Amino acid sequence: MAKASSPPRARKAAPPRRPRPPEADRQRGILAGLAAAYPHAHCALTHRNAWELLVATILSAQCTDARVNQVTPALFAEFPTPAAMARMEPEAVEPLIRSTGFYHNKAKSLVGAARKIVADYGGKVPDTMEALLTLPGVARKTANVVLGVWFHKATGVVVDTHVQRVSRRLELTREEDPKRIEADLMRQIPQEQWIDFSHRVIWHGRQICVARKPKCIDCAIEKFCFSADKTWWS
Ligand code: SF4
Repeated sequence: MAKASSPPRARKAAPPRRPRPPEADRQRGILAGLAAAYPHAHCALTHRNAWELLVATILSAQCTDARVNQVTPALFAEFPTPAAMARMEPEAVEPLIRSTGFYHNKAKSLVGAARKIVADYGGKVPDTMEALLTLPGVARKTANVVLGVWFHKATGVVVDTHVQRVSRRLELTREEDPKRIEADLMRQIPQEQWIDFSHRVIWHGRQICVARKPKCIDCAIEKFCFSADKTWWS
């Protein structure tokens, strides 16, 4: 006997959507909301000078800031300056940074950057985007961190994994490539906010707008977000 077919399941009702504000108002709301929610957001990498910040930022690729901060005290004690590290071979650095992952490449980048700084920049970490990008292992993200956090120069927006994800959810970009995402953000955000915006979005991405199941019910900018990933609509 043919089995009676079960009645079709009722579809889950779509969440109510509020009218979308004009884009300029929405962007202003996002910036103001982030500023209010994270007034003290700052770089979480422990450092006392530009060299230490550069080293910590290179180590932070594919690694948590907390892990980097566990490793750097011993590393900075051993290699307090670019000159101290430039004398070493990468193999001597590897054991000290092993737990940050990709330690083989990171050690090469650190020693390569130290040698370049000594050879071309008088032993001092340079303070321009152009010069920083000549250092092995340094791309725009690392250069933006060093320039923004240490030299207080807003030359771009730091685009890490959190900034990528949150900016896309907030529809500040549709791009996947970090350079294109950065260009979109630089177009829309006033330059004087570039440095703080990066810190705030990174904090927001770590605490609330996490990769899986963002905590939208606790999000300070929820009313400006129309992401398909939302878990709660007010
Ligand atoms: S509402 Fe949700 S998805 Fe949108 S920014 Fe906030 S936490 Fe992220």
